[in-house]
Amino acid sequence: MNIHEHQAKELLKSYGAPVAAGVAIFSADEAEAAAKSLPGPLYVVKSQIHAGGRGKGKFKELGPDAKGGVRLAKTIDDVVAFSKEMLGNTLVTKQTGDAGKQVNRLYIEDGADIARELYTSLLVDRGTGRVSFVVSTEGGMDIEAVAEHTPEKIITVDIDPTAGVTDADVAKIVSALELDGDAKVDAAKLFPILYKAFTDTDMSLLEVNPLIVMTDGHLRVLDAKVSFDNNAAFRHEELKALRDLSEEDAKEIEASKFDLAYVALDGNIGCMVNGAGLAMSTMDIIKLYGAEPANFLDVGGGASKEKVTAAFKIITADPAVKGILVNIFGGIMRCDVIAEGVIAAVKEVGLEVPLVVRLEGTNVKEGKAILDQSGLNVISADDLDDAAQKIVAAVKSAA
Ligand code: GDP
Ligand code: MG
Repeated sequence: MNIHEHQAKELLKSYGAPVAAGVAIFSADEAEAAAKSLPGPLYVVKSQIHAGGRGKGKFKELGPDAKGGVRLAKTIDDVVAFSKEMLGNTLVTKQTGDAGKQVNRLYIEDGADIARELYTSLLVDRGTGRVSFVVSTEGGMDIEAVAEHTPEKIITVDIDPTAGVTDADVAKIVSALELDGDAKVDAAKLFPILYKAFTDTDMSLLEVNPLIVMTDGHLRVLDAKVSFDNNAAFRHEELKALRDLSEEDAKEIEASKFDLAYVALDGNIGCMVNGAGLAMSTMDIIKLYGAEPANFLDVGGGASKEKVTAAFKIITADPAVKGILVNIFGGIMRCDVIAEGVIAAVKEVGLEVPLVVRLEGTNVKEGKAILDQSGLNVISADDLDDAAQKIVAAVKSAA
């Protein structure tokens, strides 16, 4: 689960991290009061969307010359004017894709005088099996570009979970970020705070880009991106309220209601598969035969007819889907349950695209018989290769 910058900052602030004062608003009517509650004279109006690159982003409705999704304002009137321009409009950044994201809330923040912009993140490093700090003096900009062109400027410090952030770890980070004076003193507090917030709340990513050294010499968290590990959601009731459904894919929200492992993708062949590994190979083989999957979907083992029906409905509701491939290797999952789920869903929502079904394993005979007797126009397939070739051919000939 991802959260907004202002929520991430509030969370970090509760752990004692230095963040600016700020107010989240949902309507331009609130902009003046929000700005008046801040010290000034510099304000920042920040679009809150679940994507980075907002500063360099462009609003679809405002034309190519308009300023981006993070703007500095020198007066309260400007805060109000910028808020009116941003709210309700669509911000396109490097991370949103061409469709962009509608800005439904803003964060009005007290502006900082920046001396240096640094990069800091915390992530779970699969290589070392540890939580690692990744830091760089080259903050504020595209860290992917730094990684590509000057990888030596990115330093990783992994943390021993039994020791936590030690003085030696802080010293490594301080030296990598070339901090001295007050910034160095601040760092000794900040980095353990970030680590504690990360581990306490089961984050999978915490990115502060930029972490700034202000002209007064102190550190401040200027931007914050947080993702929580969904596998640990059950032990964080307190974080549930931070979810913003308007930022999530409608199909993924629907899938999460049925506890389906579903990820929307850009292709046009909808996939219903059991088992994550089989789902991955089904996507691979669709690509191998020249098409692109519209989704990843693992219905899991022992799914009920209702769950299968829901899954099939999510796939058919996607207008990008031009063909569906059902690939089931029945172990715990029974082929007849899959067949019944498919038919129940088709009865409710119809079927306008070609459907290839490959069933194998437990109750395969019953499953095939149910499909045969349904009168549905199902193209049956014998194995994975056959199935992928048939659905790709069917979609191409329909196009
Ligand atoms: P992003 O573009 O989505 O990563 O949004 P950020 O919150 O990182 O802001 C983008 C850039 O705006 C930063 O790298 C800064 O250069 C600038 N910026 C943001 N807040 C302030 C501020 O308080 N003062 C100044 N001077 N610049 C800021
Ligand atoms: Mg940023």
